Amino acid sequence: MKNFQPKNVKARFAFANRHTRNAANQNSNQTLNLLVIVHSKMVPVKQTEKLTDNSNQIFKRNPYIQKQSRQTAMVHQMKYLLIVGDGMADYPVPELDNKTPLQVAHKPNMDAIAAKGRNGLIKNVPDDLNPGSETAILSLLDYDPHIYCTGRGPLEAPARGIKLSDKDAAFRCNLITEKDGVLVDYSAGHITTPEAEQLISALSSAFGKPCEIEFYSGLDYRHFLILRNFPNSRSIACTPPHDAIDTKISTVLPKPQSSEVKEATTLLNMLIQKSKTILENHPVNVARIKAGKRPANMIWPWGGGPKPSMQSFSEKYGLKAAVISAVDLVKGIGAYADMQVINVPGATGLSDTNYAGKADAALNALEENDLVFVHVEAPDEAGHVKDYSLKVKTIEDLDQRLIGRLLKALKEPCGVALLPDHPTPIKVGTHTRDPVPFTIYFPSTKPDDVQSFDEFSAKNGAFGLVTNESLMSLFLASLKK
Ligand SMILES: [Zn+2]
Repeated sequence: MKNFQPKNVKARFAFANRHTRNAANQNSNQTLNLLVIVHSKMVPVKQTEKLTDNSNQIFKRNPYIQKQSRQTAMVHQMKYLLIVGDGMADYPVPELDNKTPLQVAHKPNMDAIAAKGRNGLIKNVPDDLNPGSETAILSLLDYDPHIYCTGRGPLEAPARGIKLSDKDAAFRCNLITEKDGVLVDYSAGHITTPEAEQLISALSSAFGKPCEIEFYSGLDYRHFLILRNFPNSRSIACTPPHDAIDTKISTVLPKPQSSEVKEATTLLNMLIQKSKTILENHPVNVARIKAGKRPANMIWPWGGGPKPSMQSFSEKYGLKAAVISAVDLVKGIGAYADMQVINVPGATGLSDTNYAGKADAALNALEENDLVFVHVEAPDEAGHVKDYSLKVKTIEDLDQRLIGRLLKALKEPCGVALLPDHPTPIKVGTHTRDPVPFTIYFPSTKPDDVQSFDEFSAKNGAFGLVTNESLMSLFLASLKK
């Protein structure tokens, strides 16, 4: 309360107002056999005795492995690979014979990991929190989302190099499509980054004021509105635009949850309304409409809050970690946890992402890090647009173009954990908090009877239903079993 500065907010308002196949097949068994090299952490092994002709081929084929001499390959430490297919889990889909996309997809590599590993269902989203990716991903990394989930805005901001002080508020600022007072598209027809940069620049010229109101462009439709010295931002209730499709804008505008943020909320609402005047006739949108595409004719601030203060991953686990993702949320969480954040050219967050590039980057990162967290957004996006065949394809691409490539080239003993963060079911087109299938594999793992990586097989796995432990804690504990 005492930090609130209505004068400041009023001044900003006035400024802005001036401007108007189920079983693992043979190939995948061969793949996984490559992982079975050593059986305990930190124990030097004579790798040369284990390397077969097959392994020598891998040494020649993979540029990252070529870097390492046979001598240094003599001593190994256990490595950890955490693979998250965002939103992969689903409900049975009538058009898929009442099977889920994971059940239908041909994914020999995921199935092989499940067959050689131990499986279960895990609830990553607590009952009292929204099933956002931020909640689920913080949970699975064992950072309590009740504490660290301060909003999508602050969690994503570091991925764009945005620095926040303790009193600043960062909002995600989607470019959306509004039509006749209705929010019709949370992504403005998946507007491209170059187009969006021009629009965010125009908004910045119109409404921006350094050290007060700042716009930053991000990826595609995902941008940022930073309000400096803007306390109590978590008391403003904003609706995520992907949860407000086909909804009247007037019913889902930001709402103050306490009297102290009333004027601040008015500022946000005014920026939303006035953004249309800047955006609707912008040449980028004129060209989009001419080309039959949806215009990005309004901003939608949401997910606002202050930056979280997180313990580093290496302090928490004693493991040096890297993260590979196309999306700012995952990169930002990685940055706050002091992970190495790796940007892969061509990683888009969509079904056209650079799967092979991510696999190669992960292999490279495993040389310098103990754990590499690889995140793929594409299945989630397919769930949001309710496209079941696209979702099956994204799972198959993740399996064959990323996981398969990665597993084939792995040379060191490596544990693998694979899971979605949350379901994004085709039927509902948004995230749910249902438990998701997971599998954990180490070379020493005594497998359970599960043969396929999917929602229904996993529940019969050794872990059963997990509701009170994090994936990371299970992953690390599994090494010893
Ligand atoms: Zn997610």
